[in-house]
Amino acid sequence: MSRVYNFSAGPAVLPEEVLKEAADEMMDYKGSGMSVMEMSHRSKVYDDIIKTAEKDLRDLMNIPDNYKVLFLQGGASQQFAMIPMNLMKNKVADYIVTGQWAKKAWQEASKFGKANKIASSEDKTFSYIPDCSDLPISDDADYVYICENNTIYGTKYKELPNTKGKTLVADVSSCFLSEPVDVSKYGIIYGGVQKNIGPAGVVIVIIREDLITEDVLPGTPTMLQYKTHADAESLYNTPPAYGIYICGKVFQWLKKMGGLEAMKQKNEEKAKILYDFLDSSKLFKGTVVPKDRSLMNVPFVTGDADMDAKFVKEASAAGFVNLKGHRTVGGMRASIYNAMPKEGVEKLVEFMKKFEEENA
Ligand SMILES: *Cc1c(COP(=O)(O)O)cnc(C)c1O
Repeated sequence: MSRVYNFSAGPAVLPEEVLKEAADEMMDYKGSGMSVMEMSHRSKVYDDIIKTAEKDLRDLMNIPDNYKVLFLQGGASQQFAMIPMNLMKNKVADYIVTGQWAKKAWQEASKFGKANKIASSEDKTFSYIPDCSDLPISDDADYVYICENNTIYGTKYKELPNTKGKTLVADVSSCFLSEPVDVSKYGIIYGGVQKNIGPAGVVIVIIREDLITEDVLPGTPTMLQYKTHADAESLYNTPPAYGIYICGKVFQWLKKMGGLEAMKQKNEEKAKILYDFLDSSKLFKGTVVPKDRSLMNVPFVTGDADMDAKFVKEASAAGFVNLKGHRTVGGMRASIYNAMPKEGVEKLVEFMKKFEEENA
C-alpha cells in the first residue's frame, strides 16, 4: 500500500486511523455480522452510531441545547435553496459575496425572494474579505449570509460580520471543525462534510430551534423542510448512513487529538510553514491579502502558467497530488485540512524549495 499526500480541496484527505478502523469493521460491525452499509437505519446498532456522532459533535463544538444538529443529504449546494425556502419569511435576505460558493448561494436565493448583494470582493478576484463592520443590512432582512472560508480563493473571515441583529447564516464547509467557534452567534452554521470531516453526500446543518417552523415558502417539498428532519432526528427517510458513520469516527478522532483548540494550534502551525515559505520565495507567491488568509486552503502562483503546470506535474510525480488550482483561478492550491499531517506540509515546502532552485 502506498499513500500520497493529497492536497485536494474536496473530497479530501481523511485520518488514516479512521480509514483503517472502517476497513477493520467493514465485514462485521461490532459483532452485528454485517457492514454498516448493510444495516437498517432503524436498528439499535445504527441508532447508537448516529446518536453518538451527534453527541460527539455537540461536545466538540460546544453546541447549545437550543440548536438542532441535522445530518442531511444533497451536499452544501442543496442548502443554497433550503435556506431561503425555510427562512425567507419577508422574502428578503442579504448576501456577502466573497467567492463562487457565496455567489451560487446568492443566485439561488434570488429565485425565492429579494437577495441583496450587500458586499463583494469580486473586484479583486475574491482575494480579500470586505470590511463587514457597517454594512447596509436591510431592515427587513430575514438573514445575512456568508461563506466563512472560501475554498477556491483561500480567504477566511477572521471576524464575523456585524449583522445589526439579523440572523447570521454561514457555510463553513471548508473550515468545519478546524478551530473552535461560538455557535450561538449563528442562526444556521452548515457544511458539506467532504472537505474536512467525511465522505461526500452528507451535509451537517446546525440550526437554532426558533428557525425551524412550518412557516416555509409555499410549495417547499417535505424533504426540503428543516422541520421534517428535526422532528425525525435526521431519520425521516434513509439517511446517508455510511457517511454519517465515518463522520462519527472523525469526531472521535478529533476528540482524541485534543478537540478544536488543539486542532486550531496544529492548523496554525501547518499553515505558517507554507505561508512563511511563500512570503520568502522568489518563485512562488500567495494570492490572498495576508490578514484574510485561510488556514485550510492556500492558493499560490508563480506568475507563469507554464511554470505552474510544470510544478503541478512534477509535484504529482513526487507524491504531492491535487495541487492544481481551481479551474476558474489557475495556479496552485494546497488544501491542508485537519487530516493533513504537518509532515505533509513540511515535505511539500521542501519540494517547493528544490523546485525553486532547479528553476531559478
Ligand atoms: C465544496 C463547497 C460547496 C459545495 O459542496 P457540495 O457538497 O458539492 O454541494 C459549498 N460551499 C463551500 C464553501 C464548499 O467548499
